[in-house]
Amino acid sequence: MTTITATRRDGSDVTIDGEAYDAFESAVHGDVFTPESDGYDAARAVWNGMIDKRPAMVVNCRGVSDVINSVRFAREHDLVIAVRGGAHNVAGHGTSDGGVVIDLSGMKGVRVDPVTRTAHAQAGLTWAEFDDETLIYGLATTGGVVSNTGIAGLTLGGGLGWLMGKHGLTCDNVISFDVVTAEGDLITADANTHGDLYWALRGGGGNFGIVTGFQFQLHDVGPLVIGGMIIHPMAKARELMRFYRDITSDPPDELEVYMALMTSPDGDPVAAMMVGYNGDLTEGENAIKSIRDFGSPLADMVQPMPYSARQHMLDDMGLHGPRRYWKSGFLPELSDDVIDVFASHASNLISPMTLIPMFNMHGAATRVAPDATAFGHRTHQWDIDIVSQWLDPADDERQIEWTRRFWNELEPFAGKTIYVNHISADEPSRIETAFGPNYKRLREVKRAYDPDNVFKINHNIPPA
Ligand SMILES: Cc1cc2nc3c(=O)[nH]c(=O)nc-3n(C[C@H](O)[C@H](O)[C@H](O)COP(=O)(O)OP(=O)(O)OC[C@H]3O[C@@H](n4cnc5c(N)ncnc54)[C@H](O)[C@@H]3O)c2cc1C
Repeated sequence: MTTITATRRDGSDVTIDGEAYDAFESAVHGDVFTPESDGYDAARAVWNGMIDKRPAMVVNCRGVSDVINSVRFAREHDLVIAVRGGAHNVAGHGTSDGGVVIDLSGMKGVRVDPVTRTAHAQAGLTWAEFDDETLIYGLATTGGVVSNTGIAGLTLGGGLGWLMGKHGLTCDNVISFDVVTAEGDLITADANTHGDLYWALRGGGGNFGIVTGFQFQLHDVGPLVIGGMIIHPMAKARELMRFYRDITSDPPDELEVYMALMTSPDGDPVAAMMVGYNGDLTEGENAIKSIRDFGSPLADMVQPMPYSARQHMLDDMGLHGPRRYWKSGFLPELSDDVIDVFASHASNLISPMTLIPMFNMHGAATRVAPDATAFGHRTHQWDIDIVSQWLDPADDERQIEWTRRFWNELEPFAGKTIYVNHISADEPSRIETAFGPNYKRLREVKRAYDPDNVFKINHNIPPA
């Protein structure tokens, strides 16, 4: 018999007797990892190498019943619950010290209906895995730009990606959610049933229950889309950012242009324009001509490519394991002063792994009313991220300090808004502003569905 010591929600320790634990372990189909298990260290690892937590158990769920059993077991013993999909959350909310991690990454079922252009997808899929199934039919929905990101956490926070100008955010494309509630019951939330929950799950994060499945609206992405990077020397970052501001001030819905200040694989500081066009290839070539003609790029890799190739294009930037510290915000405009802050700090990247991406939010993503979903920041804007990444723990303090100094200069321009999925662990005060005027209603939905705040290892919305 295995005896487990775990942490209760009030922070106290509890010993779970072997009989209760063994009954739970034999009821679930997936593996349960405890500190004594082989594979425990791999099971507890998350994407951000700075996060080093030791849960009492990690339940690798194989199906909905495993999720229900895990919630009921955790509730019975009043244990801390953390929920994990792709494990990408920078704040490390996919794990917790002493608690139960309900890990859905083994739940990878997808069923695509090409007639209704919908997909029912289990919550453990990554975008790469989801895309592979929908692209059999030439269909996709707005997904993250790094393909090993989980569909669950990304969708629940909103979801920015290559199709957002044309088809809206990922959460705008969810038709229904299957949810295991704080009571351990399975319900479905859609426009007609549990409408408040359906509203809250589209941008409110993991606060309201454990989503086991999503039904997504899909869209035709043709055999080929335009994608690729155009690389300029960092010395041209100021001019390039001003040009970037101009071309993204009112782009057509089909055109996505992002930027990143970073270090090339050869070790040179570069400013990259990341280009995508979702539509007719000839129209796309015309739409991107001025981008191609600008300045004297070091490389132009933009070309027609399968949608899946564009989805993998930035994967090297998001490998699991390195240490990370982020600062992020939505910028309402890219003024010359803002550009100066970017250019001066980015010319001094202290880690070759660090990058500063900017995502232009426009088109369909901005035509949804701010109170129609929990994701309320529906204006034309730029999501900017200072993504510091490094390997050596001895470098932690220097990297964090550099990131904070950069952010301190940028913050006055950023307004108060931030994408909830980009909030760092040390920024709880930004959670309320991430939801803006929707925060009050989110607290009410939280009270209705999780009055005891069972799901609190997240960017937490306390019950009203
Ligand atoms: C390399 C990289 C690239 C990124 N690119 C993009 C991008 O292009 N667009 C974008 O919008 N965001 C992007 N993000 C941010 C991303 O949306 C968040 O990191 C998101 O939390 C990742 O989801 P996940 O399932 O992988 O993470 P996890 O860490 O597994 O989950 C994050 C949180 O979501 C909640 N959650 C997860 N699964 C469930 C579930 N089934 N039910 C209920 N709650 C759940 C939990 O609160 C959990 O703590 C990126 C992040 C990284 C690290």
